[in-house]
Order: sequence, then C-alpha cells, then structure tokens
Amino acid sequence: MKRVCIVGSGYVGLVTGSCLSDLGNKVICVDNDKEKIASLRQLKMPIYEPGLEEIVRRNTARGRLEFTTDLKGSVGRSEIIFIAVGTPPKENGEADLSFVESVSKEIAESMKDYHLIVEKSTVPVQTGLRMKETIQDNVNKGVEFDIASNPEFLREGSAVDDFMKPDRIVIGVETEKAKQILTELYQPLEVPIIVTDIQSAELIKHASNSFLATKISFINALSIICELTGADIKMVAKGMGMDKRIGHFFLDAGLGFGGFCFPKDLAAFIRISERLGYNFELLKAVEKINRMQKERFIKKIEEVLWNLKGKTIGILGLSFKPNTDDIRFAPSIDIIEGLLKGGAKIKAYDPYAMDKMSKVLPDITYCKDAYEVACASDALVIVTEWSEFKEINLEKIKKLLNNPIIIDGRNIYDIDKMKELGFKYISIGRKTGGVTGASFSDL
Ligand code: NAD
Repeated sequence: MKRVCIVGSGYVGLVTGSCLSDLGNKVICVDNDKEKIASLRQLKMPIYEPGLEEIVRRNTARGRLEFTTDLKGSVGRSEIIFIAVGTPPKENGEADLSFVESVSKEIAESMKDYHLIVEKSTVPVQTGLRMKETIQDNVNKGVEFDIASNPEFLREGSAVDDFMKPDRIVIGVETEKAKQILTELYQPLEVPIIVTDIQSAELIKHASNSFLATKISFINALSIICELTGADIKMVAKGMGMDKRIGHFFLDAGLGFGGFCFPKDLAAFIRISERLGYNFELLKAVEKINRMQKERFIKKIEEVLWNLKGKTIGILGLSFKPNTDDIRFAPSIDIIEGLLKGGAKIKAYDPYAMDKMSKVLPDITYCKDAYEVACASDALVIVTEWSEFKEINLEKIKKLLNNPIIIDGRNIYDIDKMKELGFKYISIGRKTGGVTGASFSDL
C-alpha cells in the first residue's frame, strides 16, 4: 500500500487516482476547482467515463479515496505525488506549462521529507528537468526528492480499462529509488514496464500520439485519392491493415481527428522540435491534412445542398469521439461553426456531450434524439460515430427529413443499404460522391 496524491482531478487524474485506490493504495485527489471537488465528494462524476463511478464509490466507501482542494495538506500525507493538471496549447501551439510550474512550486514549498514527484501530464521533452529545477529552488533545505515521468496512454471512453490493462507502462527515472517506488506501485497490474531516462519517457508520449495522428492523416489523405479514382477506402484500409507491420488500428478514414490530446500534442511536438532546431515537416503536413479534411467535409455538405444559406442541418454527435462527453477541440465545433458561417441553422443531438456543448455553442438547437434532429432538417450529418447512430431506424429518419440526404463523416452505413432505402448518401473515400480534388493550396 502506498500513499499517493494526484494533483489535477480531470479525465486523467481522476481515473488514475480511482484506479490506484482500487489497487489498494491510499489516494488523495486534489483539484483547485472547488465545484469539481464538492461534486466528487457527493459522488457525482464531473465527467462521463464508463465504469468510473463504481470505482469511485467503492473506494471512497472503503476509505481509500478522498477528494480535496488542499494541496499543501495532501503533500504531507503522501509519498508519491502525481501531477496530472492540464497542459493546454498556447496561441502559437506551444504547450502552456504554467499549471505544471505553479503546482511544482506549491508542492516544493510544502515538502518536509522525501517525495517522489511524477509528471503524468503530457509535456514536451525536457519539462522534467525544468520541474526539477523549480522544485530544487523552492524546497526547504535538506529535503530530498526525485522526479519521474510516467506518461499516460489511456483513451477517453475506455479510460478505466486502459488504465487497468495498458499495453505497457512507461517510467522515466533518474534514480534506483524512484524506479523501485513506481515499479512496486504498478506491479499489481502485471503488465510490461519500460524503464527509461526522463527525456525518453517524455518523448515516447509525444511520439506515440504524433504517430497515431500521422496514421489518421495518412488514411484521410488516401481517402481523397479513393474519391478521385473510384476506389473504396474501407477496402484499401482492410487490405493494408492485414499486413502485421501496418495493423488495422487507426486506419478509419473520417472527417478528421480532434480531442484534448492529438491536436495539442502534435502542435506542441512541432514547436518543441523547432525550438530544438528541427523543422518537423512531416508533422506539419499531418496537421494540414487534418485541417483540410474538416474543410472538405463542410464543402461536401454545401455541395449536396447547393448552398447553406437558410438550410437546416441536423448534426448527430458532438463529442470528439464516442463514449465520452469531452468536446475539447472536437471536430463538431469546426464543422458547426463552418456551417453557421455559411448561413445554415443547426439542430444537434449527442447522448452525453450536449451540456458541455451548450456552453460553447449556445445558439444552436439541441434535440432529445436523432429523430427530433432529423425532423424537418434539409440534411442529416454524422459527426461522431456513437453506436446508437448505427442502430437508428433509417426509414423513419427518411420520412422525417425534408430531403433524404445523409452526409456521413464516419462511414458508419452500408452504401448498398442506403441506396436501397433511397438516400442520397455521401461519405468519406467511398463511391458515394461528394467533393473531390481539394488540394493543399486551396486551404
Ligand atoms: P483536465 O482538464 O480534464 O484535468 C486537469 C485538471 O487539473 C482540472 O480538473 C483542473 O481544474 C486541474 N488543475 C489545474 N490547475 C490546478 C492546480 N494548480 N491545482 C490543482 N488542480 C489543478 O485534463 P486531462 O484531460 O485530465 O489532461 C491532463 C493531462 O493529461 C494533459 O497534459 C493531457 O494532455 C494528458 N493526457 C490526457 C489524456 C486524455 O485522454 N484526456 C490522455 C493522456 C494524457
């Protein structure tokens, strides 16, 4: 049993804290958002994440998990401190490390004996070194500490499962003591643990996310070639993915990636590379393709409707991917803003993300389900591939729509079935028509 403090109780911190308490550790989750902590104390989850509430309930009842805004007090009661605060992008794409810095300083000022401080947030390479300097400058004389990097690879929507059954755990350390503490902490998971230096661990995270984003942009660029040649991206991806060296994951063409990780981590990796003296052009192209894919999608909608002005467009799915309520950097925001700019009216539905989205886009109409969205809309647009959209009664949808038009940004329907039902069906990289040939220079 270890005494653990997690600073930042968001998607990563809350899942990490709850899961570590479930493994038998005594965990304090800290956040400076008073409302969040108050609601967690009442066992109300501030985020939608499958399976999280049960773990939180179980472990608070057992007295192994608590929530507080008091960081100073929590430091004294812990041996390992994870920093899991946000690292949002600045205007220029660089990671904003001000939360990491202020928390490091506060921890240092509160330490009276040895602590291991673990960087869990996704940060640019060499941030650990800066954290160490900040702590060194602010810690009481004679107090020893270690720094470690332990990047998190969980995915929203399956975060609890991903934390409990990861492919690997990466630990970047400078001392044997830090290595021992972290390997003991994670040993119950019985998964491979890779121990590296701190810079390598930091790079593994940025490189992994950038590589996955590259795969998505690659398949999206290929979807344009499919549209230009009459090939089918699903078949091409299947054929490619069966090669073990390529693998079939992250080869689903769509309207582009979003979320709190890929766009910002990619941008931050490009900026830190620049700072180090390397122009990472490959990753710049990945960003550009992603931007272009969203633009092309808006053009597809516009093309099938002749123009957007005065049209009512129904949007299904707002979260950046299914099974989460997270809308940070969601493609839906760019798509809806583009359509609004063209003069369209928007009706939208999402199973879990409408609350959050109504704060960002208050002036669109939120509906109770897909059918209310379809009712009297000029076209229906699939933005996020929630399972329930795969199961909707398409005959009923067709009757409710003004025109039988579906523009599918996630390729969730079968082309032949849509033809049979009498839909004008536009999707991505398949023989369903839509914009072709938008080039880099157009955007
Ligand atoms: P989040 O915004 O959900 O959570 C961050 C939390 O930190 C918030 O609750 C915020 O109130 C709190 N916070 C900020 N400053 C604080 C302070 N001074 N003291 C105490 N609490 C403070 O963010 P997230 O999605 O959990 O991401 C956190 C980090 O983990 C980021 O670096 C992110 O890139 C990384 N990450 C995220 C995911 C993901 O899927 N969300 C996956 C892997 C890694």
